[in-house]
Amino acid sequence: MKHIPRKRFGQNFLTDGGIIDAIVDAIDPKAGDPMVEIGPGLMAMTQPLVERVGRLTVIELDRDLASRLRLHQQLDVIESDVLKVDFAAVAQGLQTRQLRVVGNLPYNISTPILFHLLEYVDLIQDQHFMLQKEVIDRMVGAPSTAAYGRLSVLLQWRYAMQEVLFVPPESFDPPPKVNSAVVRMVPRATPAPVDKRLLEELVQVAFSQRRKLLRHTLGRWLETKAYAGDFDVKRRAEEVSVDEYVALAAEVGAAA
Ligand code: SAM
Repeated sequence: MKHIPRKRFGQNFLTDGGIIDAIVDAIDPKAGDPMVEIGPGLMAMTQPLVERVGRLTVIELDRDLASRLRLHQQLDVIESDVLKVDFAAVAQGLQTRQLRVVGNLPYNISTPILFHLLEYVDLIQDQHFMLQKEVIDRMVGAPSTAAYGRLSVLLQWRYAMQEVLFVPPESFDPPPKVNSAVVRMVPRATPAPVDKRLLEELVQVAFSQRRKLLRHTLGRWLETKAYAGDFDVKRRAEEVSVDEYVALAAEVGAAA
């Protein structure tokens, strides 16, 4: 029976064979890879991926799609909201600490998915995601550009990231209203150690009013933390590098 795409589940199905091949090539799956696909949908990427890896774990929220997927002998289907999935348990089930996570993500919850996976970054070998191009621009954004913000800092701290493929709306059915792209995310081998919650709070405060000098936002926050260092607050949030934010969070943490 034909599946009617459900908007509330962000269902835009890939139909362009050339794009599907290019994404699978970019992922470069190998036999036996402990791979997890988020939102397999109608299996556009699932089928070529499972042909290469042999067995694939898939996470699908849509009950109708999940029951179709369960008919496939080489798939282990987790019928769930990906935001509720414990990836540590998934890794344990696959007897690995090196998960490869892929997916053409539902765009309405793509940022929460990225932050959910950040909790499990130590168990991840790499991630390849189709996302709204504009979100990838923010993820990989460099300081002093409009795209640089909270997402750039918090993800660049833990991942090396690069856009690997541009994907136009007509590659999907139905076509989304926005351009898409595929991003590769590889956890950084030696991230600077810092309290993640503190870094999140600091970055949130810094970018809360990005047009203003940090003196008005972060300056006040640093006072509440009894920070006595020489961090220059006569700048705007977008002028501070990722390493500087991380170093500042580490200093504030050490002072607490
Ligand atoms: N991978 C397919 C493709 O490329 O054609 C489908 C991609 S579609 C953009 C997103 C998929 O994620 C859909 O299958 C949708 O049902 C599923 N999905 C939506 N929200 C989800 C959630 N919270 N957890 C798991 N899967 C979800």
